[in-house]
Amino acid sequence: MAESARNYLVAGNWKMNGSTAANRELVDGLLDGFSPSDGAGMLLCPSFVHLRDVASWIAASDIQLGAQNLSEQTGSGAYTGEIQGAMLKDAGCDYVIVGHSERRTLYGEADDLVAAKFIAAQAQGLTPIVCVGESLEQRETGSTEAVVRRQIDAVLDAAGVEAFSGAVVAYEPIWAIGTGHTATPEQAQDVHAAIRGMIAARNDTIAAGLRILYGGSVKGSNAAELFAMNDIDGGLVGGASLSASDFLAIYRAAAG
Ligand code: PEP
Repeated sequence: MAESARNYLVAGNWKMNGSTAANRELVDGLLDGFSPSDGAGMLLCPSFVHLRDVASWIAASDIQLGAQNLSEQTGSGAYTGEIQGAMLKDAGCDYVIVGHSERRTLYGEADDLVAAKFIAAQAQGLTPIVCVGESLEQRETGSTEAVVRRQIDAVLDAAGVEAFSGAVVAYEPIWAIGTGHTATPEQAQDVHAAIRGMIAARNDTIAAGLRILYGGSVKGSNAAELFAMNDIDGGLVGGASLSASDFLAIYRAAAG
């Protein structure tokens, strides 16, 4: 495990998957095999409509709940189809993912909207997990760090560095999401260290305490080597979070 005072976080992004019955089976499997660890938290991010069910099933455990998206609006009102952070809090969420690459690429979420969602999340008592990461073309043309810097700076400039003391960053190279092609531990570590450096340039202490998760085809078989890197503080897991045994294996790699 990486040597740091930061606790690991292993977050499952269920995306647009699940049903009441399938989720119940998945959560039962997780609860059966889960032993909480002081060094690592487990977080589940089901679809909006499944939040309350999952909240009730995990209520007696140390597993936490998060949503996959939220509105940038902080007040109630005429925003058909949107979900406000306060509603997520009311449904039992502590965390919310913002700026996932699928939101950026499929739904056109630009850096300024992602920053507004980050700010809205914190204003409503949620911990944002802000996702950043480059496409394959951007990696191949050597612009990984510039892309990630632009994405991080958009949030830093809008929210201020202090906001990062209550936030989580997820580095998710787009070419590794759902493809089975995981970044090597060294590739991931390089970008994680660069991200920590971007925050450290404004505030060393906040940078040292910031949890930076890696996401992109994390599995039980590669989690330990990724989590052993100094600046990798856990994972944001898509596909493998839909299997209790796979997700528990990843959690154990963080919990030791
Ligand atoms: C994700 O979508 O956040 C993700 C990392 O997916 P996967 O683990 O399936 O690559």
